[in-house]
Amino acid sequence: MAILPIRTFGDPVLRMNTALVTDIDDGVRKLVADMIETMYDAPGVGLAATQIGVSRRVCVFDANDGNGAQVLINGRIVETDGELVYDEGCLSVPGYWWEITRPEFARARGLDLEGNEVEYSGTGLMGRVLQHELDHLDGTLLIERLEPAVRKQALRELRNQALGLVDLGE
Ligand SMILES: [Zn+2]
Repeated sequence: MAILPIRTFGDPVLRMNTALVTDIDDGVRKLVADMIETMYDAPGVGLAATQIGVSRRVCVFDANDGNGAQVLINGRIVETDGELVYDEGCLSVPGYWWEITRPEFARARGLDLEGNEVEYSGTGLMGRVLQHELDHLDGTLLIERLEPAVRKQALRELRNQALGLVDLGE
């Protein structure tokens, strides 16, 4: 297993749509093992393959429910309900937290490492992490979930940070 560098805002791989996994082979098993180790090392509650530069539909998460690290291959959200404002951050946008509104409940389906159909669902952290990680696999960062005015300011700060500039405001 290996701890891999996490790609951050501005890296084009984070904007890519991902390819479905057609064969759960040794390469996929190694990818998942590395992703779990990288997630815990960060530390984070979830990690999508794009965050380590791999454009495949794989994510791992630990929703702090006592079940440890879970794997979702070819995952997709199949049901959402309600609405919840939640303080949300991302390992690919380090140092930033925003209040983000998303559905409170989410249900996701996909495959486990053995290729069996699996389903995860919940509110709170589980609902949040499923939506956040599957967003990543569609090339969507949490910034896109912000209100337009907040998003504009956030993007300005992030671009300035990437360029090494200080934001003096307007
Ligand atoms: Zn993230």
